[in-house]
Amino acid sequence: MEKIKLIDEKGKRIDGRGAKDLRPIKIKVHPLNRADGSCYIEWGTNKVIASVYGPKEAQPKHLQDPLRAIVRCNYDMASFSVDERKRPGPDRRSSEISKVIGEALENAVLTNLFPRTMIEVNIEVLEADAGTRCTGLTAAGIALADAGIPMRDIPAACAGGKVDGKIVVDLRKEEDQAGDADLPIAILPRTKEILLMQMDGDLSEKEFYELLDLLADACINISEMQKKALLDRYKQEEDVEEDKETEGKKTENKEIKKEEEE
Ligand code: UDP
Repeated sequence: MEKIKLIDEKGKRIDGRGAKDLRPIKIKVHPLNRADGSCYIEWGTNKVIASVYGPKEAQPKHLQDPLRAIVRCNYDMASFSVDERKRPGPDRRSSEISKVIGEALENAVLTNLFPRTMIEVNIEVLEADAGTRCTGLTAAGIALADAGIPMRDIPAACAGGKVDGKIVVDLRKEEDQAGDADLPIAILPRTKEILLMQMDGDLSEKEFYELLDLLADACINISEMQKKALLDRYKQEEDVEEDKETEGKKTENKEIKKEEEE
């Protein structure tokens, strides 16, 4: 098979990005009304929706931990999300991703505040173009914040790797498939504590640390976008509340004036 050229003579990647550039990211907070918290992210051509329910009483009861909440994650990729139709339902890959994301989130949430409960996180991948576990985890972090669940920080995630011998962040599908290594990580941006790290392929120790530094910076940028999206959403809500209050006061004043005139 002919090897695709992933980096051109000018050092640009197939979509024109430099080594440290992220794909465009768009975040919508609380797209779902029935979940306690939710988030929709478009990251490049990845489209992912995350929802959170809870904390609620853990069921079945034998799962209950008297000292803390448990976080259950279910990652699912829709059959229409990839070029070659995916068989619907869970498989080994989605079980693995659900497990590692659930564990990462459990380490971010202040689980000791909600003993015997369960926090349910659902991640639906509607369109996939590599990096969906990181997109899903980043969306889940926002959905948890949207649900008002206390955390040590909002987790942010990003994958990177090595393509054509060069260290780059945020791999797209061609780079993920034809590249030499793939390293997804999730961190708590404030402390840079690592919540998730997986690796596929080969990197030297020097390359590994170089990539880790780039990914930590990428996660800090993503964290800023997460916070901005949450602030925008709740600022909007606050503004609507304020407008309603002002409107209410105006009507009240008008009524008092009318009564005085009568
Ligand atoms: N993929 C696919 N079919 C599958 C699983 C994955 O086409 O059954 C594609 C999809 O675009 C996915 C990418 O391969 O995003 C990389 O998958 P990986 O397992 O590395 O996880 P991800 O990078 O999405 O976290």
